[in-house]
Amino acid sequence: MDSDAIILGKTTTIVRCERKRPKHSGDILYVPLSFDKHALMEYMKTRLIRILKSEFLKLKKNGNFYIVGEIDFELVRKFRDRSILSMLKGSTILVREDAIKLTRIEIREVLVHELAHIFSKHHDEKFQMAMRYIGGKQRRLPIQA
Ligand SMILES: [Zn+2]
Repeated sequence: MDSDAIILGKTTTIVRCERKRPKHSGDILYVPLSFDKHALMEYMKTRLIRILKSEFLKLKKNGNFYIVGEIDFELVRKFRDRSILSMLKGSTILVREDAIKLTRIEIREVLVHELAHIFSKHHDEKFQMAMRYIGGKQRRLPIQA
């Protein structure tokens, strides 16, 4: 039984086949026959965490900002306020697990936004400046408040 899912901004067809591990190729995600809804969700979560970490490393490499200590990532099913996609809690960036639907650029934007909150709790001037430093020139429009 095949189904569709939105992964990284693209409608992706999930095809079950004789494979041991999932493989994403173009707009098809091949998964093992044994993959049920739960396994698929776990795969998506692992994928999202990996993307968050790799985008974070890329931002850090740009070297426009410096953070003392570690930043952790945690996925949450949903926030009490359903309109919230991500949140900074201490040094942990909480991200809603369905954020895997967003494009890579949008995920990066979520990251830039939350990282900027390390420098300011509010969406003030200082925050805007932090976003510019962290995100660099490639920044797109902010996608959330
Ligand atoms: Zn914010």
